[in-house]
Amino acid sequence: MEITRTVSRRGVPIETVEWNGKVYRRYPESNRRSNRDYFVRGEGRKLLLLHREIWKEAHGPIPEGMHVHHVDGDPGNNALENLECMDRRAHLKMHGDAKEFPVSTRACPCGKMFETRSPRRKWCSRTCPVRKANPVRSATREYQREVAARFRERHRDRINENQREWRRKRREQEKS
Ligand SMILES: [Zn+2]
Ligand SMILES: [Zn+2]
Repeated sequence: MEITRTVSRRGVPIETVEWNGKVYRRYPESNRRSNRDYFVRGEGRKLLLLHREIWKEAHGPIPEGMHVHHVDGDPGNNALENLECMDRRAHLKMHGDAKEFPVSTRACPCGKMFETRSPRRKWCSRTCPVRKANPVRSATREYQREVAARFRERHRDRINENQREWRRKRREQEKS
């Protein structure tokens, strides 16, 4: 299956593949991962995903709740041998996003909307211009060090006390 690269009338890059006489497309520049990765085709109100269609043609219907996974990790490689039907949970776990947070749509400070499962994500993307202009201070190493130092300062007595306690216990253990 050869991937053809084109550009829409509005200048949006599109990749297409043809399978069983039908054209499936994906949008490599999309902010949404599923739109970037998966070749799809609209049929009536349904959105057909190429990898699932290929798997179905060979093996029959996909059982409810099952995912079709790209074995080599490349969602552009839709050869049948590269497709594996697997349990949704196992699949999400494999991709490291097993957390069961629902997908929510949020507005980035730049105004762009984005979808995420992360309860804390604030920015639309790593390359967001507003994010770049406002580096998140709490994420810097210096800041983490400052926080740790402040904590130690504030709780010095308790920390010293804990250390004394810990040394005392160790001495006792050594004696016995
Ligand atoms: Zn997968
Ligand atoms: Zn943004």
